[in-house]
Amino acid sequence: MEAVVTVNNKYDFSEVKKDISCEEAVSLSNYCLNCKNPMCKKGCPLEIDIPDFISAIKNEEYERAYEIISQKSVMPEVCGRVCPQELTCEAKCVRGLKGESVKIGNLERFVSNYKTPIKVKKSNGLKVAVVGSGPFGLSSAYHLKKEGFDVTVFESSHVLGGVLIYGIPEFRLPKKIVDDVIYKLENMGVIFKTDVLIGATITIEELKKNFDYIFLGTGAGVPKMFDIPGVMSKNVLSANELLTRINVMHAPNSDTPLIIPRKVVVIGGGNVACDAARSLVRLGSDVTICYRKSEEFLKMRKEEYEHAKMEHVNFIFNAEPVRIETDKAFTVNKCVFKIAKKHEKIECDMVIIAIGTTHNDLIPRLNGIKSDEFYKIEANDYVTSDSRVFAGGDATRGNATVIDALSDGLKAVEKLMQIIKK
Ligand code: SF4
Repeated sequence: MEAVVTVNNKYDFSEVKKDISCEEAVSLSNYCLNCKNPMCKKGCPLEIDIPDFISAIKNEEYERAYEIISQKSVMPEVCGRVCPQELTCEAKCVRGLKGESVKIGNLERFVSNYKTPIKVKKSNGLKVAVVGSGPFGLSSAYHLKKEGFDVTVFESSHVLGGVLIYGIPEFRLPKKIVDDVIYKLENMGVIFKTDVLIGATITIEELKKNFDYIFLGTGAGVPKMFDIPGVMSKNVLSANELLTRINVMHAPNSDTPLIIPRKVVVIGGGNVACDAARSLVRLGSDVTICYRKSEEFLKMRKEEYEHAKMEHVNFIFNAEPVRIETDKAFTVNKCVFKIAKKHEKIECDMVIIAIGTTHNDLIPRLNGIKSDEFYKIEANDYVTSDSRVFAGGDATRGNATVIDALSDGLKAVEKLMQIIKK
């Protein structure tokens, strides 16, 4: 049994995948074997007690199921939507050996509709500053608060949620879902401060005067660009810029400039390329994703790939970008690829580059926190070169998944607890 999938119309950014009903959830849960040695749990970076929460659904104890997931996860409503379960828990499910795996992601999303208040220990008197409100920051803040720390989250943007907000479109992850996670943390007592650029406006040393510990979840949000001729032309955008304009600044229904292209080439094969392509389809563009490898190496989720094809996104594989051509006004009019040893010109009036992101240099460069040459922060078991500063998520890994960042947040707090108890 599958969750209902619909393909939306032009200009419609409403969520594509729908919730399942109680009857469907109970039916899906009855397919689980409640294994003694649950491989699904081993496949989950957060090691959520999956058979236990599925058993609770079987008994129609939905709030208890939520409590079980919430022991490890700050955001089941997000993970149930965007985690690549086909590569983690569902990939390990024994049911998958002879047929379909248990639909753990669909069940997690279902359970997230049955929220219960989160218990918080009384204050231990220690103050922690969390830098960044993306997945690592929110996961750290959640587990720190549960342990009784006083937690303040600093966000450089005017909106909270980091990549969950600026990177993932409404049709995959509605903003209200992320807002609900923030409200939950606020209700637990976490303080949020927006428009504060830690590392520049306030340095790490200044922060240390007011906080006992600092958790860095600064992500990896600086887009990588190609070094091919024409890349600086008008209407060549990084996918990050495009998605930020649409997701955060509400283009094209705002003052934010965004020319709606007629024909677009998106270069890349990951989820970000797919999100950019599907967003542009909703604005009425004819979109082609060009990927330098073959279909089997696509990095986007299979489900998203299938949705993109249903929404008439075109795909060209084994296409190596060569150059971008322009008209006399330096506006893009063609993108040239090497395909099967021949140069092919694809007409387009916009090129979106989605070949990954790298790290912001601000904190390592200006604040003495050790990093590699690409400003990826170095951390040993989540502790950086400064013993009062912890880090995780994309800031220490590079481009990782939401669930990996959530796992880092949990483990970094566990590490701090070990240090404090010594
Ligand atoms: S491995 Fe699959 S069948 Fe076994 S407990 Fe996990 S979800 Fe259920």
